[in-house]
Amino acid sequence: MTWPTIREILAARRQPTLSLEFYPPKDPLSFGILGGSIERMRPVRPDFVTCTYGAGGSSREFSFAAWELLARMGFQPVVAHLTCVGASRADLAAQVDRIHAAGIRNIMALRGDPPRGETEFKPAPDGLAYAADLVALIKERHPDICCGVAGYPETHPEADSLVDDLRHLKTKVEAGADFITTQLFYDNAVYFQFVAAAREAGITVPILPGLMPVSSVAQLERSLAFSRATAPAALRTALAAGSADDARAAGIAWLTEQIEGLVAGGVPGIHLYILNQARTILDPRLAECLARWRRLPTGATT
Ligand SMILES: Cc1cc2nc3c(=O)[nH]c(=O)nc-3n(C[C@H](O)[C@H](O)[C@H](O)COP(=O)(O)OP(=O)(O)OC[C@H]3O[C@@H](n4cnc5c(N)ncnc54)[C@H](O)[C@@H]3O)c2cc1C
Repeated sequence: MTWPTIREILAARRQPTLSLEFYPPKDPLSFGILGGSIERMRPVRPDFVTCTYGAGGSSREFSFAAWELLARMGFQPVVAHLTCVGASRADLAAQVDRIHAAGIRNIMALRGDPPRGETEFKPAPDGLAYAADLVALIKERHPDICCGVAGYPETHPEADSLVDDLRHLKTKVEAGADFITTQLFYDNAVYFQFVAAAREAGITVPILPGLMPVSSVAQLERSLAFSRATAPAALRTALAAGSADDARAAGIAWLTEQIEGLVAGGVPGIHLYILNQARTILDPRLAECLARWRRLPTGATT
């Protein structure tokens, strides 16, 4: 069966799409845990799923195995993430060909972060310096692959300004990117301002908001450290008040409110950084919120 591309899914949507982001397990034994999570999440019926990419030798293979597992368990279509880290142009061409040969027609094209302990991204010898170059490589080899790229509502940490960052985002779209998924954010105003600035800069492709559920202050702080996003004081306060269960409930309430505000604002879809956790997506309050805007009968996702 040929699965539609994300470009086609977004063009045909009658309501905002729901996509879930997974990451590959770090060892073979953990694949069983991921399989169990996918099984529990099956009734959620996401429009598509994505799975991140680790550039190192074994993590690369685990990424392929995770994409294959998601597809085999019926979470289709899969968007395979790919980064330029540690790879020459020839390596990347081989990865793209392998992804295409596996039947995957959607790639999230990323530059990747500098390796731990390094502050600056250095391309591998004969490698690519920017995600835009990867988009161009993918489209040159396989024009039938749909490409997503990353966008940063609070500006990429290395960019000098939002204007510069948007100029570079536009370069990715001009290279062939079909859609943008944003870095996580906790304040919807930040997303809507970013979309307005992107449209002003001439970027016309769909911009999917990326949201991360959080259930504790510690988890919030970790997400801010890696994303360099900011969080409203009210979210911190809500997560800090009461027991662990209260914090979980506060995190779900925040996420639900964000989703409702975004859907009311006309977003093309909601992308959830679900971190392989079935528990969050199956929470009855979140399930009810998803069911409302996805026009499924309430309870259908629980
Ligand atoms: C939705 C999403 C998914 C992600 N998935 C993964 C993953 O699976 N694996 C992983 O390792 N990381 C992932 N990341 C993290 C990502 O790799 C990092 O944020 C990385 O630092 C930048 O990647 P990029 O593709 O945005 O880079 P780019 O778009 O290349 O931008 C990187 C920086 O360079 C600047 N820039 C771009 N072009 C130029 C130019 N021509 N001249 C000068 N400056 C320029 C940009 O403004 C930006 O500051 C993801 C991020 C997001 C938002």
